[in-house]
Amino acid sequence: MPIGVFHRVRLHHGHQFCIACLADQPFAKLTWRLAWQLYCPTHRIRLQDGCPHCDTPFAFHRVSLAIDGRIPCHICGYNLAKPAPSLPCRSRAWKLQRTLGRALASEQITVGPFRVSALEYSIGLRILARGITNRTRLSGLIDTMPRNIRMNTCMPSQIPAQPFEYWRLSARELGLEILARVAEDWPEQFVWSCRRSGLYRCRFDGDQGVSCPEWVGYALRQLER
Ligand SMILES: [Zn+2]
Ligand SMILES: [Zn+2]
Repeated sequence: MPIGVFHRVRLHHGHQFCIACLADQPFAKLTWRLAWQLYCPTHRIRLQDGCPHCDTPFAFHRVSLAIDGRIPCHICGYNLAKPAPSLPCRSRAWKLQRTLGRALASEQITVGPFRVSALEYSIGLRILARGITNRTRLSGLIDTMPRNIRMNTCMPSQIPAQPFEYWRLSARELGLEILARVAEDWPEQFVWSCRRSGLYRCRFDGDQGVSCPEWVGYALRQLER
């Protein structure tokens, strides 16, 4: 995930962390930088993508490690390792994260009739995420979701008009929940959801030079105008 390096300042909230992991050991983990990593697999709690007190992006190089068991935020001094209540993990998003984690350990993923690698799967999900927002507004696939998903408190302002990896954690959590649902019964559920929300193939076109994995391309070909 992008962290927006500007001199010694971090402009984006791309460096996530687990409060409980930091309390155990003051080390940053590589997996905290993955956009689909929302929960700590060890502690089964949500990661944080900013200081719980002042929301400053986590800058590991600027915190003083474990002074008297505290890891102070470099802006406000809040103890980043302080236990805090955490919202429950969303079950589908959690399952999707675990699937991607297993795939990284070289297992392949089955999605409908396709067997794909972790890379093909994550590139595909990134393309499908374009069906969740229309510039800065939630629109599209979300319209076919159950009421409890549509009424999510995640505010549109948290969804930037940028790729998935720029979204804040709560927006990515909602995104992963939606993607997990449309990936079920692939590709019929997705094609049905897109047609119902008036989404066509052009909505998913994006980066030049990034080739679309076949498991997604197969579905998108059914959404030509
Ligand atoms: Zn943890
Ligand atoms: Zn702070």
